[in-house]
Amino acid sequence: MIVNLIPCLADNYSYCIIDSVNKNVILIDPAEFSVVDNFLKNKNLVPNYILNTHHHSDHVGGNILLKQKYNSSILGFAADKDRIPGIDTFLKDRETIKIGNLEIETHHAPGHTSGHVFYYLKNEKIAFVGDIVFSLGCGRVFEGTMEQMYHSVNKIKNLAPETRIFCGHEYTKSNLNFCMSIDKNNKDLKIKEQIILAQRKHNIPTIPTTVMDEQKTNIFFRLDDTKIRKAISLENATELEVFSKLRKLKDNF
Ligand code: ZN
Ligand code: FE
Repeated sequence: MIVNLIPCLADNYSYCIIDSVNKNVILIDPAEFSVVDNFLKNKNLVPNYILNTHHHSDHVGGNILLKQKYNSSILGFAADKDRIPGIDTFLKDRETIKIGNLEIETHHAPGHTSGHVFYYLKNEKIAFVGDIVFSLGCGRVFEGTMEQMYHSVNKIKNLAPETRIFCGHEYTKSNLNFCMSIDKNNKDLKIKEQIILAQRKHNIPTIPTTVMDEQKTNIFFRLDDTKIRKAISLENATELEVFSKLRKLKDNF
C-alpha cells in the first residue's frame, strides 16, 4: 500500500492511497478536480473511493467532478451529510470500514469544524488528520470550542508513537516560527528546524510527520512542559488553559 501526496491549491495536500494487491484507489480530501485528475491520468488510476475529513471547500472541492468522471463512492461523517458534496456513505464515530484488506477507522474530532473526523489505519499506523493537527501546529477553532479542539488534538497525540500523520496543509514553516518563538531552547525543535528549512528551500513537502516527532517538537502536544508554560506565564494552569492561550497567540502570530 502506497500513500501519494498531491499538492493542491496554494498549500493543500490531497492524498491518494493505492492498494496494489486489491486494486483499490482511495482519495483523501481531493481539494480540486484538475490537479487530482491529472495525477490519476498520469498513473492510469481510477479512484473507487473518496474520503473527506471535513466539509471545507479546500478539502471537498474535487468531490463532484471526480465522482462524475470516475463513479467514485464518497464517504464522510454522518453529521456532515448535508455539507459534504456528493456523499454516499455516512460514517459514524469509531466505525471501522474495510476496503480490500485495509481497515480504516473513523474518529470524530470536532473543533476546527463540528463534524471533523480523522481516519486511522491501525495496521499501517497511518492517520489522515485534515485540519486537526499540522506539523508543529494545530487547526484553527472555527465551529467548536477550545475544549473540543484540545481533546481532538489529544486523540492524535495518543495514537501509536510511530504513526505517520498526513495533514491537510503545508503550514510547517510558519508553525515552526511560532514554536520557536515560545519553545526557544528545545533541542529537538532546532534539529527539526534545519530539516524543515532544507526541505522547503527545495520545495519538498515536510509531510508526513509522526506522532513521536510532534510529541518532541509541537507545542500543542507539550502542554505540560515547564518552559513552555513559563514562556506564556501559565505555570500553574490546566492543560486546557495552556492550549487555549497558545491557540489564541497563534491566531494573532
Ligand atoms: Zn478546514
Ligand atoms: Fe483546510
